[in-house]
Amino acid sequence: MTRRRWTAKRRLALFEAHKGTCHICGEKIDGTREAWDVEHIIPLAMGGDDDEGNCAPAHASCHKAKTKEDAGNIAKANRVRAKHFGARDTTKRKMSYRRFNGEPVWRD
Ligand SMILES: [Zn+2]
Repeated sequence: MTRRRWTAKRRLALFEAHKGTCHICGEKIDGTREAWDVEHIIPLAMGGDDDEGNCAPAHASCHKAKTKEDAGNIAKANRVRAKHFGARDTTKRKMSYRRFNGEPVWRD
């Protein structure tokens, strides 16, 4: 995957292609007054590309909130994977006895 730099010219072309609309909240971005970022529709960490097909403008504030959420999803995906691999070793069966004076007494 070749990564091209997001130059001012390239950013402007992307902004115009999306009619200056925030990809996340759907509101217009006032490019002269509001900060905006190039947002990856599929995050790079989830295998998304850094090209125009996977990018859209988004308010800096919206982008920040989504990046945080994506990071949470990625962490969750990793946790689920870890749990899957560890499941066999960590799952303990409930013992079917109770203790009586410290001695296990089997239920009948
Ligand atoms: Zn927005």
